[in-house]
Amino acid sequence: MLIVMKRGHTEAELEEVVREIEKVGYRPHVSRGVETTLVGAIGRGPTPELMEHFRALPGVAEVIPISKPYKLASLEVQPFPTVLEFPTGKTGGGHVLIAAGPCGVESREQTLKAARYVKAHGAGMLRGGAFKPRTSPYAFQGLGLEGLKILAEARRETGLPVVTEVLSPEQVELVAEYADALQIGARNAQNFALLQAVGEVKKPVLLKRGMSMTLEEFLMSAEYILSRGNMQVILVERGIRTFEKTTRFTLDVSAVPVLKSFTHLPVWVDPSHPAGKREWVIPLALAGLAAGADGLIVETHPEPEKALSDAAQQLHEHEFAELMQKAKRLLEALDKTLSAPVLG
Ligand code: PEP
Ligand code: MN
Repeated sequence: MLIVMKRGHTEAELEEVVREIEKVGYRPHVSRGVETTLVGAIGRGPTPELMEHFRALPGVAEVIPISKPYKLASLEVQPFPTVLEFPTGKTGGGHVLIAAGPCGVESREQTLKAARYVKAHGAGMLRGGAFKPRTSPYAFQGLGLEGLKILAEARRETGLPVVTEVLSPEQVELVAEYADALQIGARNAQNFALLQAVGEVKKPVLLKRGMSMTLEEFLMSAEYILSRGNMQVILVERGIRTFEKTTRFTLDVSAVPVLKSFTHLPVWVDPSHPAGKREWVIPLALAGLAAGADGLIVETHPEPEKALSDAAQQLHEHEFAELMQKAKRLLEALDKTLSAPVLG
């Protein structure tokens, strides 16, 4: 349920409401707006009696049920955008951050090269999988711990925060030690044990949409993370399965404005995996930004033809540079700020 405080309520009244919420075994989420303070009380199905109890507390204006199955992710509980901060800038609330790098960390040289040029072209985050979820058990599975160490070195050298995928609950602690943000892949988007495990970590989570997930299911997956106390979640639309076979997946551009009408969480677009081919990546990336995305996560490789995974969709450096040039112009027209690293 959502508790709307009266205008001019006192701090003591707010504290009492929070204490009462905890007393009945619910989780409080305070959201202070300019005009009103809202307190989400998150728990299972509040009874009319419980709602009446809160209505009677001093300083409370109204108690209303939250209509959506997801609570902490909803705009009802937090009616303003979540803005996440990284050393290179922000994402959300008009700030756009672009993460880029290879699909997988393959070598020190490959990753450092990519890190240097994505930074030079204005990316605010380095991506690269150290643990790769592959459809075939015989395909390149990533360098594991060695890959994490390479990412850490790339961060030390460039100052770019790094995002990398975590595949299982057991891996969360290790990956969180090295990464600035944890990626949950499309194939794990409903791995509830994994979602709960990253919910215990104090690092941002990039949650990819599962390839056959509805937007409501996507938000429920985010809710699994939020409900464990980690409010730093970024939703990533990365294409869904449709009858179309030309592209690898169908980028659901509409997911961006639709999600934003339901949630305060930043919404990003991954144009690489739906495209499947590099020639289609730039237009999909621009479409994502035009639709209102707060960030992109793009695959680029110093020598894409030699990549050990997703070779066909990774951009060459010059193509990534072109994407960044176009993105900057588009964001200017949209009155948005690109969070870029300080070069030097
Ligand atoms: C990736 O980012 O390389 C990846 C495997 O993405 P997804 O989980 O969206 O397929
Ligand atoms: Mn990939």
